[in-house]
Amino acid sequence: MISAGLDVARINFSHGEAEQHRRRAKLLRDAALECGRDVGVMGDLQGPKIRIRRFKDHSAVLNDGANFFLDSALGGDDGTAEGVGVALDTLHEDVVAGDALLLNDGLIELAVERIEKTRIHTKVTMGGILSDHKGVNKKGGGLSAAALTDIDRDNIKLAADLEMDFLAVSFVCSGDDIDEARQLFQAAGGKGLIVAKVERAEAVENIDSIIAAADVVMVARGDLGVEMGYAELTGIQKSLIRKTLKGSKIVITATQMMESMIQSPIPTRAEVSDVANAVMDGTDAVMLSGETAVGKYPVQAVRAMSEVCTGAEKYPLPEGTTRHRMGDYFEHVDEAIAMAVMYTANHLNVKAIIALTESGSTARWMSRIRSDIPIYAFTPYAATSRRVALYRGVYPVAFEPEETTRKELYASIFKTLLSHKLVEVDDLVIFTKGDLEGVSGSTNAMKILKVKAAD
Ligand code: PEP
Repeated sequence: MISAGLDVARINFSHGEAEQHRRRAKLLRDAALECGRDVGVMGDLQGPKIRIRRFKDHSAVLNDGANFFLDSALGGDDGTAEGVGVALDTLHEDVVAGDALLLNDGLIELAVERIEKTRIHTKVTMGGILSDHKGVNKKGGGLSAAALTDIDRDNIKLAADLEMDFLAVSFVCSGDDIDEARQLFQAAGGKGLIVAKVERAEAVENIDSIIAAADVVMVARGDLGVEMGYAELTGIQKSLIRKTLKGSKIVITATQMMESMIQSPIPTRAEVSDVANAVMDGTDAVMLSGETAVGKYPVQAVRAMSEVCTGAEKYPLPEGTTRHRMGDYFEHVDEAIAMAVMYTANHLNVKAIIALTESGSTARWMSRIRSDIPIYAFTPYAATSRRVALYRGVYPVAFEPEETTRKELYASIFKTLLSHKLVEVDDLVIFTKGDLEGVSGSTNAMKILKVKAAD
């Protein structure tokens, strides 16, 4: 999968125990080393996913029009075709008659008729087979579980201990949830970026505070599609991508992108189009879930997705060069340099941008502006390489700046770029760099040079 194009692997804390997560992280890092690639690891917190408890026979058939109840007071294994336990003590306080509850990712729908103490009486409006532990959502949102559970708090420590590059926070409602997760992660020694999974109706409402607080936003279409209804999903996805880019953050589009490849070695045309459209809308990353977790064709799925991304990137923006943040004042010097570089690059025949970077922040600012010009992030830090691999159009290059003079430094970078055929002699390139080595965010200069052959 790494050779086929995988840049970041998600370890979903919803499935498995700490030891398995440790083993998976090690397996991934060993494989990345073998492939000679920097591959990021994302720990994905389970969050307060509301689930039903178990059935006596592990499942029950819910017929259309039948009565069915959910009850937090019902024992763990006592579910029948009449009703089942639910693992949120306050669920009955969050629903009223007329609400629609969606189970098993929306495959089963219940209309709430009345509440009696902890028991929610419903009528089955879309029936099917319901098995143990399936998820519960309310159409339109409004379930009040807090974003971080005790299990999440333990997993945040585990993610920090495993030096994960990204920590994804599930079911966030507002920027405060992100701040809390970041605080806990950093207190445990975590250094990775924080990903906000937008999968609740409340998160869509509070998207500005979430974008401001997070490093990365994930359009988590699975749960989001259930809460918002699939008719709204594409519009919401496009708006989330646009807003996240405008907020200078990174955006991932996730779930069911190549779903048929769980069973089939090639994607459907609709899936190809879905991935390509997300890329054309500006997403930084596209994510596979079941396709690689349990599918029959994980390598083919990664390869197909990677090919579709590359194919879609060949088509320029319809509106040509961007007017991204033309009216803005900038708060940071590296941000101002990044904007100046992109303005220059998009108006001059530049073949590559080379960011000499500590944290990758200049590369991030630059990559928010659409252009077909690759950004090579030269960094001595593997952690930065793993992080920028997620940024659209940014390619990490491992680099130990040993050269003493500037001339030697440029010569060695040209040599690397020429040896990989990324540029040709006499091409124009732009460098961004800072005076302070070892200080992140200190980029304060851009320089335009012509590529020279090695002496
Ligand atoms: C989603 O709901 O789309 C998602 C990415 O979250 P998970 O895979 O954890 O359900």
